[in-house]
Amino acid sequence: MRKDDCIFCKIANGEIPSRTLYEDEMFRVILDLGPATRGHALIIPKEHFLNLYELPEEWCAKAFVLAKRMAEQMMEKLSCDGFNLVQNNGEVAGQTVSHFHIHLIPRYQEDGQKISWEQTEPAPEELDAVREAICREA
Ligand code: AMP
Ligand code: ZN
Repeated sequence: MRKDDCIFCKIANGEIPSRTLYEDEMFRVILDLGPATRGHALIIPKEHFLNLYELPEEWCAKAFVLAKRMAEQMMEKLSCDGFNLVQNNGEVAGQTVSHFHIHLIPRYQEDGQKISWEQTEPAPEELDAVREAICREA
């Protein structure tokens, strides 16, 4: 189902033109307009799902296989040195477009980009507690 006011619905369904790298009945893969690196692309489902939690498992499986194939193609064609898959959920996590998408980011030596975070040093009890919180039966 597409959503009328969603830009990625319009792009994925071809109502707004994009630099399409691949398309099938479920997904469109486009070049990002503000690329982190040469070849930065987005996998966008043609149906509207807000984020990973809303994405049905069947779509999730297909999206990840597609990500692998696109990464292989881009590694070969762009001769990049590495690859990041990035997928943001929620504003606090950096999601700016409210329609699920996966970033495909080819990486090059000296590309000057950094996709990283500050490591913290929790006490062992804190790690135990968080494991407990995640795994506890409802
Ligand atoms: P995120 O921050 O994970 O929601 O990523 C949104 C991405 O969409 C950013 O990298 C933007 O550069 C990209 N973007 C936004 N609008 C467009 C557009 N019309 N065409 C291509 N990429 C877009
Ligand atoms: Zn949408």
